[in-house]
This record gives sequence, structure tokens and C-alpha cells, in this order.
Amino acid sequence: MSTKKKTPLQRIRNIGIIAHIDAGKTTVTERILYYTGKVHKMGEVHDGEAVMDWMADEQERGITITSAVTTCVWKDHEIHIIDTPGHVDFTIEVERSLRVLDGAVGVFCAVGGVQPQSETVWRQADRYHVPKIAFVNKIDRIGADFFGAVEQMKDRLKARPLLLQIPIGSEDSFSGVLDLVAMKKLYWEADTLGAVMHEEEIPEELSEDAALYRDKLLEDLSETDDVLMEKYLAEEPVSEEELIAAIRKATVGLAGVPVLCGAALRNKGIQPLLDAVVRYLPSPADVPPVKGTDPRTGEIVERPASEKAPLSALVFKVTMQEGRKFCFARIYSGKLVAGTDVYSPITRTREKPSRIFAVHANKHERIEEAGAGNIVGVTGLKFPSTGDTLCLESEPIILERIDTYEPVMSMAVEPKSHADQEKLPQVLEKLAAEDPSLRVREDKETGQTIISGMGELHLEIIVSRMQRDFGTSVNVGKPQVVYRETVGQTGVGRAVFDQDVAGAHHYAEIEVTVVPRPRRQGNIVESAMPPGPVPENLVRAALSGIAESLETGVIMGYPVLDVAASLSGVNFREAGATELGFKVASQMAVKDALKNAQAFLLEPIVNVEVLVPDAFMGEVIGDLNSRGGKVEAIEARKDTQAVVAQVPLSRMFGYSTALRSATQGRATFTLQFS
Ligand code: GDP
Ligand code: MG
Repeated sequence: MSTKKKTPLQRIRNIGIIAHIDAGKTTVTERILYYTGKVHKMGEVHDGEAVMDWMADEQERGITITSAVTTCVWKDHEIHIIDTPGHVDFTIEVERSLRVLDGAVGVFCAVGGVQPQSETVWRQADRYHVPKIAFVNKIDRIGADFFGAVEQMKDRLKARPLLLQIPIGSEDSFSGVLDLVAMKKLYWEADTLGAVMHEEEIPEELSEDAALYRDKLLEDLSETDDVLMEKYLAEEPVSEEELIAAIRKATVGLAGVPVLCGAALRNKGIQPLLDAVVRYLPSPADVPPVKGTDPRTGEIVERPASEKAPLSALVFKVTMQEGRKFCFARIYSGKLVAGTDVYSPITRTREKPSRIFAVHANKHERIEEAGAGNIVGVTGLKFPSTGDTLCLESEPIILERIDTYEPVMSMAVEPKSHADQEKLPQVLEKLAAEDPSLRVREDKETGQTIISGMGELHLEIIVSRMQRDFGTSVNVGKPQVVYRETVGQTGVGRAVFDQDVAGAHHYAEIEVTVVPRPRRQGNIVESAMPPGPVPENLVRAALSGIAESLETGVIMGYPVLDVAASLSGVNFREAGATELGFKVASQMAVKDALKNAQAFLLEPIVNVEVLVPDAFMGEVIGDLNSRGGKVEAIEARKDTQAVVAQVPLSRMFGYSTALRSATQGRATFTLQFS
């Protein structure tokens, strides 16, 4: 076991790289690992099915870009890169990584600009108050428009871009960048794959541009900083140190977004990006104390990022490695020590992390303990699931759980052989433990196994992992949209269960009230009964009956969503008061309440954005209309039009094939849940 030298908190960066698919996240990450010495060979991203490449990446190239965390070292700082998949099907993965990172790098394509997925992820990052840096990639591509991308950041992301660089040349002639902080020209040596970066004085012909954009940077920054404002207005000189400090303050305080540029594929622009991560993104010590709930009192409590504070850690990913559960946890306060008891307040169990690991790209290094600000691997936990808190039993805290998304697509799977049939349940159980957005159930009528998830691609990947990682083959049914049911108004339902079952008498008389909640707020199941007359075990039985009953609605049997259901009345009689009776009566009361609350069906709607050359506009719009879509906007982009529409998800099956044949393969589209 190694006794790893501890990096002080101030020199740790927990970051994520967020991007629209194809913006260059994989390429940027790979260059980062190369220049920081993590990998010694650079691979290129292959052509082909782009959405699949993140699965193929680690397989084919032997570096684990998709492992939960990759650690690298840059200028004495330890950078943990937390993986954030770009595809909309994996929103849950993005969400859970945003929870545990302190800063993010947004990678944008200089041609595509701010595309819908980056917009979504950016908003999610805003919601979690994550400071960001932007990297405008692919300046070498035909049609690259650095300033256009910056304008889109203002319009679409409502960000205040702080241009720290501007590109020298564009497309084929892109040769380097002007660094407006150091006022230098930067360029990269082709022979060393960009590993050697040169700095020189800004040449005469660019000095006017440099002065202009430096002034613009000061102007933008002065809006975030009073001291700088005074200097700027008085036209006093600002030193490089002052400038860096002001940029850092604006970034950490979410008042501005430093913007850099380059072409990862051409090995240009990565070192200044790493410098910016270290300079401007916060360390775990710079972010506000984590908040949670004290389960004893229900009060909100805070824990500072200090090893001296009591332990709080969030399990943000559970994976299976060599047949064992391997958890990734972010420690917010206190210390996690191998072999020492911790408490899991959600499952109310004592847990003993048997081993703790520092996580690197390919290997895990065993350590004895880790403190606040670190992200570690943990084995030995008995009942871990994503979103669980680890703390001290004497000082319990529950950190806010990671939102889970409701599945929108389901598919029947059938084992191909007898051997597959035997393995199927365990395999699915393992996959579901890793992936909280995957649900597995048995269809009671047909006996089929149904998996549901966040989209067609998500389910396809699950099926291919069953085959590849577990050697289990299945035939699959047609993917189906999962509808939801909800209610339009408050409804009260009552039921009496008065029966002899298995020789015992059961009696329960229950009232349940359901109230609509705003979309996407999820369900609440609670007791509105004063503590006292009804024993607690019976209340619990009633609540579990209510929760179960919400899994199948009263219209078509789809899950009920966005309702608050409460146990609002019990006519309590000692005789015959059993858990079974309470549970069954509650289930019946829920159905009655739903009927009285004007239940209705919810259909998943997606936002579709199609980028299409002018010549094919008519076909694309006609096709969207025929799918019941509502075209909301048509925006002119360089050489293309962007058609934005809302379409029911159920009508989008096979869209990529249809679009390809209608436009000779010249249009691209993206989907997002509305
Ligand atoms: P990801 O989907 O965001 O991970 O994007 P990738 O890193 O897989 O890149 C998508 C495609 O863009 C690949 O074909 C890359 O080779 C290409 N690419 C990435 N960076 C650049 C760049 O700076 N310039 C150009 N011209 N292509 C790039
Ligand atoms: Mg990729």
C-alpha cells in the first residue's frame, strides 16, 4: 500500500468536459492526457458511427477516457477529469458528474457553434453553480467562425464571454493564437505533435487587433470588478497578475466565462487550456460548503471542505469490477479511512469501506485514507447505490440525491439460449446497479422481461454490453415509448378492506389524497396523519402500498408521475388492524383518488433540431409535419438552415434513416427531451 503524498486542496481541480457530440471532447481529452504525460501514444478518433465512439474508445485504444475519473498532473496541480457523456440518452450520467465536479470546460465546435446538447448541459451546469471555461475547437475547419460561436454563447447560454485569446488566421491558415493576458503570440511545433509550444512577441501586423481585444477584455471584466472598473475608466495600466486575479474571481463567482480557442486535432491550443483550468477554475476549497439534511431533525446543515469537519461523501457511481462493487465517491468534508466504519443514512446501515483507491486512467492505487475535496474509489460497501451519502453515525447528514430521470423508452428482451436465460436476471441486476436510469421489470401478462431507459440508443448499448461484457445474448422486441399518467386536480379516494385471509381477519379503512405537482418534479408519498393513534408499522405499510400503486395508473397502466400522494385519513380499529390490510386498502384508495383527480396521459415530446442545406428545407419541414411535429423556428446559419421543431417521441422512430434518404445524407439532427 502506498503512502501517497497528499496534494493540498488548493492544488486540486475536479473538472468535467462538456460538449455536444462531435465537438471534439474525446480529442481534447486525449491531447490533455498526452501533454500531461498520462498516455504516450495519440490515437485518432475514427470515422464511422460517431455516437458509438465513446464505447469503442476505451476498447480499441486502451485508455479509459470513459472511466468515471481520470487524473493527470499539470504544473504541480492534480486535475481529476470526471467523465460526462455527451449524448442525450445519458443525461443521468452528466447530471451525476456535474454534482461532484467543481468546474467545467465547455468544448464547442467553431463551425457548429453552440449546439443543442451543449446548451442543455451548460444549463445543467448553471443549475449546479459550476464555473466554466469555454474552448472553441476546430478553428482549422472550413466554415470556422470563432466570433460567431462567441456571439452564440451570449445569445443562447446567456454567458458573459471573456476572450482571453483570439485565433491567428482561420481554416487552413490557422497558425496560432494571440494570448491577450500575457500579450504574446503562441504557436505549436508540428514535429512534436504540438508538445512544444512557442511564445513570442506579438508581430507588428497583429498588434492593432491585440490592443483592441485586450481592451475589450478589460472592459468586459471591469463589469465584474469595481477595482478594475476604476482602473479601466482612469486608463491606468493593469498588471498581468491583477488581470489573472480578476478573471479568476469572475469565473469562480459565475460572472464570466474565459474563452480560449484552438484545434485539438491539429495539436493546437491545449496547453493554454490546461493553464486556464489551473488558473481560473476553483479548487475544492474555493467552492461553498456542501449542504445536506440532518436526518434526525430535517434541518439543513453545512459542512466546510476541511479534513477537520465530520465526514460527508457522496457515492456518485457504482460499477462492477472483477465481480465486486466498486464505488466512486466524492469526499466533501472530513476523511474516509480504509477499514473504519462509516454510516449510510439513507439505507440506515453501517458500512465499512475495506479499501480506498486513488483513481487514475487505467489503474487504481490503494491508499489508506483520503480527505475533503478528493474523489476516490471505494470497495467493501454492502448496499451502495448512486446518490447515497457516507457520513459518521454520530453526525449524520444526507447530501441531496442525484436526480434520476424517468425512462422514456422500453423494449422486451428474450434470452437466446437456455444458458442465456439462466444468466439474464443477474446480468440485468448488475447493469441496473451501475446505471440508475435503466429499469428492469417483468411484464405480468406476457412473462417477458422489459428493460426501459432513456432512449433507443441507451437500450441498444445495454443490449450490446450484455453480449460483450457478460456473454449473454438476447433477441429484442420493438422499442416502445413509455407514456406517463398524471392528474389534473386534487382528488380524494377511500377504500375499506375487510376480509379473512389465510385464517386471519384484516380490517382497514383508508383515505388517500392526490395533488398535482409541476412537471418533472416527481412524486411525493407521505403521511398527513398526526403521530400517535395509528402504529408506525401500519403507517409504513400504507405508504408502501401507496407508492406501489402509483407504479400503474388508472388509464392505461403506465406509471403515475408528478403527484403528491398522502395518507390523509385512517378509521382505526384495533381489531384486524394488520400491515397487509393497510397496504391493500391504501392501494385501492389510490386508484379511487386518481379517478377522482382527472387522471390523464402524458406523452414524451422531443425538441428536434435539423441542420439542413437550403435545397432540402421543404422536404425536411414536410416530413416533420407529417410526424405531427410543430415547427417552432427556422434560423439561418452559415450555408445551412436550422429547423427547430417539437415532435412526439413516438413518431421519431427511424428518423435518421428517413432524413438521410430525403436529403442525400446532407442534413444532421439532434434530439432532446422537451
Ligand atoms: P466528441 O464526440 O466530442 O468526443 O468528438 P471527437 O473528439 O470524437 O471528435 C469528433 C470528430 O471531430 C472526429 O472526427 C475528430 O477527428 C474531429 N475533430 C476533433 N477536433 C478537431 C479539430 O480541432 N479540427 C478538426 N478539423 N477536426 C477535429
Ligand atoms: Mg467522443
